[in-house]
Amino acid sequence: MKPARSIPYALALLLAGLPAAAQRDQEQERRDQQERQDQQRREREQQERRDQERRDQQGGGDQERRDQAGREQERSGETPTQQAPTLEFGVAGLTPENAEQIRTSLRELRTQVYVCSGCEREYARAGTCETCKLTLRADERPVFQEATPAVERSSVRVRVAPGRTLRYSDLERALLANSIRIEGSKFPLDTPATLVLRGGSQENVAEVERALNESGAFERAETRFEPSTGEIQVTVRPGRNAPSLSQLSSTLKSSGSKLLLADVIWGEPALKS
Ligand SMILES: [Zn+2]
Repeated sequence: MKPARSIPYALALLLAGLPAAAQRDQEQERRDQQERQDQQRREREQQERRDQERRDQQGGGDQERRDQAGREQERSGETPTQQAPTLEFGVAGLTPENAEQIRTSLRELRTQVYVCSGCEREYARAGTCETCKLTLRADERPVFQEATPAVERSSVRVRVAPGRTLRYSDLERALLANSIRIEGSKFPLDTPATLVLRGGSQENVAEVERALNESGAFERAETRFEPSTGEIQVTVRPGRNAPSLSQLSSTLKSSGSKLLLADVIWGEPALKS
């Protein structure tokens, strides 16, 4: 009976061993699976990082495309109401001691705007709200979204808040109040702007426009006479070789005219009227 007993015993042992072996196999399988999952997770994470990097780069590209679109829109003269010009220019007198004071006084610089009491939309000029048809109320709001004096570069960088206007004369006055002088030769006219010329009349308009367009200082210049102020206003779009404020003044002087560059305005709806 021994063999008869031993067979089931061996069989029993074998059968008993099978689950253990199966269990070992299962454990090995689980470890393998775990490892594969870990590997897949690492690959997924790497892929996500690569995707994120690509999105970041595309985001930058989108920004560039938006900037490009903005520039093209400005060139075509359509609804540049939300443009926010950024200017960077050289100054004399900036020190580590007065930098903070200059930043503060530039941020306090205000400009006249007209606001709808119904929808709070802000307009550059008085009138009625396009949407609500309510009469706009006058208000004063900060000119700059950002104002950063850079002591080491002797320069100031400002970003005009969207829809607001900056006059060079106001900027100059605010800086002079802190004993900071703008260096005209380091003030590039490289953003769309309106030049305000004094000392001329309606007769000079065509001549000025031709002289500026021929000088190559700007991609395009459009001129009109404003009888109420006696100013010739020139709306300019910057070209490749933006002149400095000083260069533009010399160009005007050398043209033999009596016209003087009295002011520059940024943020006005470009090339309208
Ligand atoms: Zn409104």
